[in-house]
Amino acid sequence: MMATKRDYYDVLGVPKNASEDEIKKAYRKLAMKYHPDRNQGDAAKDAEVKFKEAKEAYEMLSDGDKRSAYDQYGHAGVDPNMRGGGGPGQEGFGGFAEAFGDIFGDIFGQQRGGARGGRQVFRGSDLSYAMEITLEEAASGKEAQIRIPTWESCDVCHGSGARPGTQAKTCGSCNGAGVMQMRQGFFSVQQTCPQCRGAGRIIPEPCPNCSGQGKVKKQKTLEVKIPAGIDDGMRIRSAGNGEPGHNGGPPGDLYIEIRLKKHEIFERDGDDLHCVVPISITRAALGGEIEVPTLAGKAAIDIPEGTQNGKQFRLRGKGIKGVRSSYPGDLYCHISVEVPVKLSEHQRKLLKELDESLKKGGPRHSPGEESWSDKLRGFFST
Ligand SMILES: [Zn+2]
Ligand SMILES: [Zn+2]
Repeated sequence: MMATKRDYYDVLGVPKNASEDEIKKAYRKLAMKYHPDRNQGDAAKDAEVKFKEAKEAYEMLSDGDKRSAYDQYGHAGVDPNMRGGGGPGQEGFGGFAEAFGDIFGDIFGQQRGGARGGRQVFRGSDLSYAMEITLEEAASGKEAQIRIPTWESCDVCHGSGARPGTQAKTCGSCNGAGVMQMRQGFFSVQQTCPQCRGAGRIIPEPCPNCSGQGKVKKQKTLEVKIPAGIDDGMRIRSAGNGEPGHNGGPPGDLYIEIRLKKHEIFERDGDDLHCVVPISITRAALGGEIEVPTLAGKAAIDIPEGTQNGKQFRLRGKGIKGVRSSYPGDLYCHISVEVPVKLSEHQRKLLKELDESLKKGGPRHSPGEESWSDKLRGFFST
């Protein structure tokens, strides 16, 4: 539709540091300007495009997370396929009118959706689907199949909703329009016809298979591509796979929300991974090579003599490459020095000997204890 995407701030005509309020005001002004009531005939098409552009900009900039992603990465940062961002996805007339509902709802009453072909058109609801994946799957991405509800035209009534041999008839209350004009003070307000609930027609004898709905709920399998680097809480939008619209309105979208299973070894923090590596006091004291796990397999790190408990070792690039990152994060190995337990007589004797020997050597063997004693002395002398 548009060759190049305009900057969201330019679209709304606000500076980069605009407040939430300024952004809202700017959007409100544009929405008024491009309102379909004010743009008839040839101007209507252009106004709709302009409106959608403004709406997308507003959706991005009014959401703190999306705005900071956009500020950092530009349009790539708010790829509509990620985090369920609004974006220029498929959005029929329903979405267009629905957005006006937010702003003009107080003037035009409860009415959502627009009129198409004389009938009330509603966009279908969005569906959300929670998908649990492992850390490994999140790191490498995967193809998944999910079962989602779908609606198919009823094959008993062929979608008409009427019992075979009978027919739907035009609603007498609204003459098939689906809406009725009501006067309220100065305003003429359109209301959904209560008789036919906007359908414009009445089914005297509903089809027994679909209860007059014209469609039946089924299950279908959907192939979903989970991008590598996806993180807990991110959403993937599958346009048009939500609930069907009403009276020919567009369907809603399906949002697949990612949940990361807890990992036995690694804890994820953005693109970085953390793991705790237990080592013995002797290994910590003597130093040497220890084996550590990474998502790609085993790795070894050389720890120096006298490695203390809690010391971190960073393995550069052994984290996860996030969906919007150019480089993978790092892996942090946190050393946990373990005190030996279940000692034999002999081992206990050796430790006692070691203890004597260390005492003779003085506090230089325990740097932490030395500074601790200094602190205590200072603390008690004041
Ligand atoms: Zn049917
Ligand atoms: Zn009616």
